[in-house]
Amino acid sequence: MKMSPEELADLVEAHLDDRFHDECGVVGIHGHPEAAKIAYLGLYALQHRGQESCGIVSAPGGAQRQSVHRGMGLVADVFNERILGQLEGRSAIGHVRYSTAGGSSLVNAQPFCATTDAGAIAIAHNGNLVNALPIRRELEGRGAIFSTTADSEVIVQLLARSREHLPEERLIDALSRLKGAFSLVMMTSDALVAARDARGFRPLSLGRLDGAWVFASETCALDLIGATHERDVEPGEVIVIRRGRLRSLRPFKKEEEKFCIFENIYFARPDSNLNGNNVYTFRKELGRTLAREHPVAADVVVPVLDSGNTAAMGYAEESGIPYEQAMIRNHYVRRTFIEPTQSIRHFGVKVKHNAVRGVLNGKRVILVDDSIVRGTTLTKIVNMLRAAGANEVHLRISSPPTIGPCHYGIDTPTREELIAANHSIEEICAMLGADSLGYLSLDGLRGCGRALKHGFCDACFSDDYPVATTEEGPPPQLSLFRSVGSEDD
Ligand code: SF4
Repeated sequence: MKMSPEELADLVEAHLDDRFHDECGVVGIHGHPEAAKIAYLGLYALQHRGQESCGIVSAPGGAQRQSVHRGMGLVADVFNERILGQLEGRSAIGHVRYSTAGGSSLVNAQPFCATTDAGAIAIAHNGNLVNALPIRRELEGRGAIFSTTADSEVIVQLLARSREHLPEERLIDALSRLKGAFSLVMMTSDALVAARDARGFRPLSLGRLDGAWVFASETCALDLIGATHERDVEPGEVIVIRRGRLRSLRPFKKEEEKFCIFENIYFARPDSNLNGNNVYTFRKELGRTLAREHPVAADVVVPVLDSGNTAAMGYAEESGIPYEQAMIRNHYVRRTFIEPTQSIRHFGVKVKHNAVRGVLNGKRVILVDDSIVRGTTLTKIVNMLRAAGANEVHLRISSPPTIGPCHYGIDTPTREELIAANHSIEEICAMLGADSLGYLSLDGLRGCGRALKHGFCDACFSDDYPVATTEEGPPPQLSLFRSVGSEDD
């Protein structure tokens, strides 16, 4: 069967995309002579949080003028020395954004800029606002004209209409109307403001660099730029930095903390610390717990690269079964392929992964991954391990079955598309072609989570959603208003 280039691209896209995805990462810096370059490096470290588009806005202190550059693609492709040289000023904010398929549009790239009667502002937002749609409709009914299809623009529109005086007061006024998840940075002509919703769904860290203040979604960005990690922005906290001085505000009603546990399971980089907890250490503990819950006689523990790496190490340590990297990942996969010959079948998954026959031949394999979304990728990987000589393949998943979509800033398939929402574990095991399948239990996850010493959201595993949605199953941030269409690129 001959595949067209489009079918090939879809196949590869499907196996690249069979995961939950973070939708955004943000950085902000105040009081540094090379603020835009620092923002660029910060975004570089946060690239895993969004690969569709990115942008940086900078501002000379005290001036109303802002310089902006946004583009489609990776940070390293969108910016160069010349562009960064044009982004003058001692303050800058930046954003990386993930796209759902078909939702690519430069118009939605952040940071968003606006001129209000309180001055020029720019905002970069990570999260998902569950009541953005009714608020947008209300504002449009009062004559507002939206120029993007992203829910984040609702914040800008509300802020512009606020009757408060200072920009940070306007921001608080706007955010008070919104439900859901926001970890954001806002730059004004003389201040940098960071805010986190009262439940603290998404991470946001505060650091210092040569006397400047830095905000970043994850501490790995602070590490790259050489900043010290001072602390995290607390859930419900608004931090205003003006003329080098930090002011902490607590304007929102206190809520139970609901940090996204999936950040610890998969999204965040293992070298990041989230709310004071190292991601790598947490993932290893998930693997250890998984080994206790689902032991099986086997010869090797093999991770799905890179998502299962750390949990597989934990599983191997706890079980005493050797850890082997029996799959090799091609790190240079892109969407553009030359059509293969008709004789090369099922090549799709091999573009990204290949099995090491010398390790797998004749072995009983425990294959560890962090989650199963649709199951399309794992089916191919299980087949690949068998083709490389594995006698048995036992799948172990370091999170509970994902039975619901996320409404708080993660791009997820619909409930209908989630394999665990529609099939028993026995059925999934058969569909994936594995000899056995074991998921970490919800109790096991919550047991590991208790060590984090803060509350967390596990709604996509438990169906216990901490913030009710105003509409049945609202789409994620990036497709919220997709019907508006795209001005491109
Ligand atoms: S529903 Fe899942 S992905 Fe979304 S915030 Fe909660 S734990 Fe994270």
